[in-house]
Amino acid sequence: MSGRRAAGANGGAMSGNGATGESGATSGNGVAAEIVLPLVEVFETVEGEGTAAGYPTVFIRLFGCPLRCVWCDTPYSYAPHEPEMRLTVAEICARVGDFSSARVCLTGGEPLMFGWRSVALLNALVALPQLVDIHVETSGAIALEPFLDQVRSNKVRYIVDYKLPASGETHRMHLPNLRLLRPMDELKFVIADERDFRAAVDVLHTHKPGGAALFSPVFGRMPPQQLVERILAEGLANVRLNLQIHKVIWDPQQRGV
Ligand code: SF4
Repeated sequence: MSGRRAAGANGGAMSGNGATGESGATSGNGVAAEIVLPLVEVFETVEGEGTAAGYPTVFIRLFGCPLRCVWCDTPYSYAPHEPEMRLTVAEICARVGDFSSARVCLTGGEPLMFGWRSVALLNALVALPQLVDIHVETSGAIALEPFLDQVRSNKVRYIVDYKLPASGETHRMHLPNLRLLRPMDELKFVIADERDFRAAVDVLHTHKPGGAALFSPVFGRMPPQQLVERILAEGLANVRLNLQIHKVIWDPQQRGV
């Protein structure tokens, strides 16, 4: 998840008018059906974290990420691994339609690194009448402004995964994103240690971002009990503890759940 501007993995910068196809094929309703994206997996489970935790959700995991967080739990979503498949936007939407979930999590890797192709996918998902919520898990390194401009739907929410010092990628954060977050969006801090905790508190105090603030312990490094104690001791009345419930339900290493 990178780039101070939304630029494609293949060098495709976001166009001014958003959804146009790689092959130039764009349907009458603006759905660029022929645009191709690399993917790892599309599967249905329950959302494991965030404000939509517990809801049946279709996960679309795109392939590719320019960041390399030390504690990343999806290293299979970027090089040197290979994408499992390449699907058109229309094919991705068809797969979503195979499930009964009304919610989609667009994740990665970094699902916004494809610029205008990411916009096209989001707008195509917005057009699916059965969906009530499309939340995008993004690294915080990609500028959100073009997406907010070109994906005009309250169905779409952004979950910014702010990278703290222990991730090794905190210097990649695109700080102007913080002032763009709306109440429906989320700002997640994955916290490995006390230095991360302090950095997260500093971000909240300095930038006063708009979205829901979620504090999540790095699995296996920060005991959840310790994080709760720190949240309470700091008097963080509007911070929510965020646990990944899929790591409680299934083996933490299991994919596709
Ligand atoms: S945690 Fe997210 S942003 Fe970091 S390397 Fe993994 S996929 Fe990329």
